[in-house]
Amino acid sequence: MRREQTDVVVIGAGMAGLCAAVTAIEKGADVLVLEKGNRVGGSMLLSHGLIWTFSDKRQLKHEIPDGNEALQELVVDHLPAGHAWLEELGIALEPETSFEWYGQGRAADPRSMTSTLMQQLDEKGGRLRVRTGMQRLLLCDDQVAGVVAFDDEGPLVVEAKSAVLATGGFQGSASLITQYITPHANSLYLRSNPWSAGDGFLAATTAGAAATTHLNCFYGHALAAPPARFSHHEFSNLTQRYGQFAVALNLEGRRFADESEGTGEEALNLAMATQPNATGIYIVDAFIANGAGPNAYPPQIAIDRARNAGGPVLCADTLEELAAKLSDWSVPSGVALASLREYNAAIREGRGSTLFPSRQKNAVPLDTAPFTAVMVRSGITFTCGGLQADLDMNVLRRSLTTSTLALTKADMDELSLTPMANLYAAGCDLGGISTRGYVGGLATALVTGRIAGESAAYNARHNDLK
Ligand SMILES: Cc1cc2nc3c(=O)[nH]c(=O)nc-3n(C[C@H](O)[C@H](O)[C@H](O)COP(=O)(O)OP(=O)(O)OC[C@H]3O[C@@H](n4cnc5c(N)ncnc54)[C@H](O)[C@@H]3O)c2cc1C
Repeated sequence: MRREQTDVVVIGAGMAGLCAAVTAIEKGADVLVLEKGNRVGGSMLLSHGLIWTFSDKRQLKHEIPDGNEALQELVVDHLPAGHAWLEELGIALEPETSFEWYGQGRAADPRSMTSTLMQQLDEKGGRLRVRTGMQRLLLCDDQVAGVVAFDDEGPLVVEAKSAVLATGGFQGSASLITQYITPHANSLYLRSNPWSAGDGFLAATTAGAAATTHLNCFYGHALAAPPARFSHHEFSNLTQRYGQFAVALNLEGRRFADESEGTGEEALNLAMATQPNATGIYIVDAFIANGAGPNAYPPQIAIDRARNAGGPVLCADTLEELAAKLSDWSVPSGVALASLREYNAAIREGRGSTLFPSRQKNAVPLDTAPFTAVMVRSGITFTCGGLQADLDMNVLRRSLTTSTLALTKADMDELSLTPMANLYAAGCDLGGISTRGYVGGLATALVTGRIAGESAAYNARHNDLK
């Protein structure tokens, strides 16, 4: 069997993995990066490149109260240093900009960020193997001692003093999505790189790692439904982010969520994943379509892009006419019209909270012709549940860790959070930072990747002394 040795093996050459790898080299470790795909960059390369998070920790706590507060605060506290580090590496960052009303960040060109991180890895003496997927952890006396990977030539054993899992979550695995998120996994759009299929999560939990809560949560956005055709480079353009301003119906003609829940469209998109065919219909009037939507551009632009890509879009001058046309999509017109009328009546009377599901924010009736219906599908970008880790990104051992369920009462000596030796996780392989709400994927990967890299290098040095 082929064998390689290194201080630190990093699994995944996306945002978290490359940040971990470069940091570990800077801290003196010999580093080998394994990348399953035929290219580096993971979902980072497909992203907008805005490395943002919440401006204010209290606001973050308010909007996402069920996340791991300590890890969330770490992301907020360490982001400015992360930006500065990227600039020191030679990555051009735009000046600080606000993100919606609650966040701030700095944007990088995803291509040059990926190539500069790769160049740094190379110049600093790191090694990379592409088309090499980690299959399982290598255990020696039940301790992590590296990984077993596969490439075109077969198995490769990598013996390492530390291993960092940065495989980007489990959104690419239909079986894990069916198990944890929705029976409609086959209908979901994968709005990410195609390789993040839970390899880090499965390898670690098989070896005894603890998983977080929120395995049923993911971050993503709805995209124009089939027969729309688009490549992964058009994910952003075809994203229908204005859902929180629309009225969203399912294929049975009923509202299924408070469209306005959360800070963006992600909670609605998550609810849509559990609806028939993971499909919804966003209905807007001319006032909403031409108003200032998310990212300050009117929803009409996204609607036109959906139509131009071949996505199903209907228009009518009255809600009655629009509901009748919905029968072309096999949506019961009468049920749909009743849902829209009930919504309008409640909103006009200021009783959105009495609706079921309620409508707490963006409570505007559909009044202004023309009316538009856009058929959309839930898109999954990354899973929010994952491995449990401490603040050094050291993965916790399930058999020595207390339950993740809310403990009504526990004495201090009953609590236990014990790490697994030599195993670290970063980016979307970590769980509980984003939950139903979104903290910022690149910022999370940058901050946790750097910490995991530093911890892994320190651990490798410590291992040397044994
Ligand atoms: C269209 C789009 C727009 C986005 N825009 C933004 C944005 O503007 N701002 C923001 O904050 N976030 C954005 N994101 C999210 C952001 O890209 C991710 O949160 C971030 O890339 C996660 O980093 P990661 O390292 O955990 O995963 P990734 O960057 O996806 O990297 C994971 C890597 O692991 C590899 N891998 C998987 N399994 C294995 C294995 N078994 N062995 C070896 N390698 C493996 C994968 O091939 C991949 O290269 C966007 C995402 C998309 C798709």
